[in-house]
Amino acid sequence: MITVKALVLEKGKVLLKETPIPIVSPGELLIRVIYGGICSTDLEMVKGYVPFSGIMGHEFVGVVEKDPEGKLEGKRVVGEINISCGDCSVCRRGLKTHCPERKVPGIKNRNGVFAEYVTLPRENIFPVPEEVPDKDAVFTEPLAAGLEILEQVHIPPSSSVGILGDGKLGLLVAMVLAEAGIETIMLGNHPEKMKILKPLGIQGLIAKDFQGKMDFLVDCTGNPKGLEFALKIINPRGTIVLKTTVAEQTNLDVGVLVREEIRLIGSRCGPFGPALRLLQKGRLPVEKMIDKVFPLSRGIEAIEFAGKRGVKKVLVEMER
Ligand SMILES: [Zn+2]
Ligand SMILES: [Zn+2]
Repeated sequence: MITVKALVLEKGKVLLKETPIPIVSPGELLIRVIYGGICSTDLEMVKGYVPFSGIMGHEFVGVVEKDPEGKLEGKRVVGEINISCGDCSVCRRGLKTHCPERKVPGIKNRNGVFAEYVTLPRENIFPVPEEVPDKDAVFTEPLAAGLEILEQVHIPPSSSVGILGDGKLGLLVAMVLAEAGIETIMLGNHPEKMKILKPLGIQGLIAKDFQGKMDFLVDCTGNPKGLEFALKIINPRGTIVLKTTVAEQTNLDVGVLVREEIRLIGSRCGPFGPALRLLQKGRLPVEKMIDKVFPLSRGIEAIEFAGKRGVKKVLVEMER
């Protein structure tokens, strides 16, 4: 049996293991992973945000090793993470990312990408444009999540917009909105992180010092306190987009939503095609977000390092 190295989550413990090379099911492709990106969701999974055991990770760039139709062999690709049934009433309504039967690599009922090889359905695969370097391509999934906000809400360019939280997703969301011509203020805690956004004209302020009010807020704090804070600084009839998923529960006085007529919108996965087009333009300083690249053999250390305060993106490089 051919085995491959993989970073596995088992009963809340991260382990480096030899696992069987994945079997390619009909309609799927075998991909040799180049880089995987560690996301806050991966760290939340280790804390037990959702029960999962198996190979970790969902952000990656790789090369197609085996395509039964031959078309994509040797091509660099990224992969949409929601693997839906395509057949239920939700899927038929076009809401595939909400399929109740969906599987998500490294998150729900499906092995993830922190391994030398992964399989994905053909319809989840997106070829990476030549101009996009490997390390940039790893950011496709979180950038798509940022673009989802623009799919969901209309933000007039003249409105006041704030991003709460200068973590990985917050920085990417700020970049996406800036590219759309929206003036954005980042309310964070780490001036050294917010500095990355300066070339895009995005102002970074320390959140607790902020005095004003905003029309739109995107909560990327990854903390239940983020929404509490957002409700304090949102204008009446304002909109709060929630990107935070956290292990802890929150106690929220929802009365304020009624009194102030505030819209609260949950936001998750977004479109890969537009995210790749954004990366193709080469204007987003995503590579500046990478603090460290670890080989897969040091994957456990990589997860620990990614969880340290102030650390931005950590990549895992698969060796072979
Ligand atoms: Zn992610
Ligand atoms: Zn379905």
